[in-house]
Amino acid sequence: MVKQQGQSGTNGHMENIKELKTLLNIPKDIVIVTHRNPDGDAIGSSLALLHFLRYNGHQVKIIAPSEYPDFLLWMPAAEEVIIYDNDPELSKKYIDQCEMAFCLDFNALDRIDKVGELISDRKNIKIVMIDHHLYPDPFCDFMLSDVTASSTCELIYDFIKMLGAEADLNKKIGECIFTGILTDTGSFKYSTSAKLYRIVADLIELGVDDYLLQDLIFNSLEEKQLRLLGHCLNNRMEILPEFKTGIITLTKEDYGTFDIQRGDTEGIVNFLLKMKKVKLAAFITEQPTIVKLSLRSKGDFDVQEIARKNFKGGGHKNAAGGSSFQTLNGTVRRFKALLPSYEKQLNQ
Ligand code: 5GP
Ligand code: MN
Repeated sequence: MVKQQGQSGTNGHMENIKELKTLLNIPKDIVIVTHRNPDGDAIGSSLALLHFLRYNGHQVKIIAPSEYPDFLLWMPAAEEVIIYDNDPELSKKYIDQCEMAFCLDFNALDRIDKVGELISDRKNIKIVMIDHHLYPDPFCDFMLSDVTASSTCELIYDFIKMLGAEADLNKKIGECIFTGILTDTGSFKYSTSAKLYRIVADLIELGVDDYLLQDLIFNSLEEKQLRLLGHCLNNRMEILPEFKTGIITLTKEDYGTFDIQRGDTEGIVNFLLKMKKVKLAAFITEQPTIVKLSLRSKGDFDVQEIARKNFKGGGHKNAAGGSSFQTLNGTVRRFKALLPSYEKQLNQ
């Protein structure tokens, strides 16, 4: 196991990369696992790594705890992703027979429920974590963690370079990496850096069509999703100017009325930040057994801390989430009750 890393991970280094490189010189049975409700970065990083590892002769399967949104269906080999919720037996079979597991875009095995348990049960496999969330849990043998990275996809690019395998990068891998960068930065709005733009320039040189991918990823809404957005903004939005905070809530009934499926609410929280007067955004939804919170912020205001300390959650400084077992109204009340202690920071 790697030693305790604190909040900031391994700062983009992997201590024992040589050892991992040696292991990867011999073809292996590998599973790649990623987080529940996988997003563009989770699926993009998993598929990029799958194509890279297969090219190098490994047998590779991807297992995600739950389904990914339809706007990612076009991705090369997306149809091969095994969904644990739909195929628990098949998922278990591949985890039970693998020699190595890559854990991408999450920082602790308990974030992936049953899939995490199946991985922990495999005592003699090598585990590699590649991730950019704060507070990585050192459950792995190899860790590449950089909380300043825009995305896990950016780190997959770094990882391939660290292995000295940049010649293996191709358009297909580039498209997968570009997808995660694009979705996790909200089209280059946050977590950008000079290094990131250099990577993106390399991806374009590999033949990635950035205009086409932006269109596939961001112009793919269904009519009902746009109507749901309208409902959220018109009927379910509350602004608390004294705390520069915006809240959108969705009730169980809304889920029925608008036939809301997984992924349909993606991105709604970000609309709150489009207001100049909003610095903290909360999207609070009533799920079958829990109430889920999605938090976003601008600038230095840290929502990860709010999620971690109050809602058993975590994430990044400007994008975090958590959950609550209270009612929707109770959760909203608890969230609002936290705001006075942040009043000064919010009004800076
Ligand atoms: P989202 O609001 O899009 O669901 O998540 C934003 C960020 O917060 C993601 O990086 C995600 O991993 C993290 N996050 C969301 N929900 C939870 C949670 O319940 N626990 C933890 N630890 N992180 C979460
Ligand atoms: Mn990510």
